[in-house]
Amino acid sequence: MSRCAACGKELESDEVAITRKLVNRGCDSFYCVSCLAARFSISEEDVRALIERFKAAGCSLFY
Ligand SMILES: [Zn+2]
Repeated sequence: MSRCAACGKELESDEVAITRKLVNRGCDSFYCVSCLAARFSISEEDVRALIERFKAAGCSLFY
């Protein structure tokens, strides 16, 4: 189980995938939705909406 590199929360697979999408496909540290939102100065709702958009687009990072 991966943990958020900022707060230590256990991560869902979607959170690992959206970190790859927003930060770097090859990154090895991952962030939870709230830490990603803080890092990119967007809301948690925006991060969740992006996850849904990438899933709907069939992005292979999401499963
Ligand atoms: Zn976090």
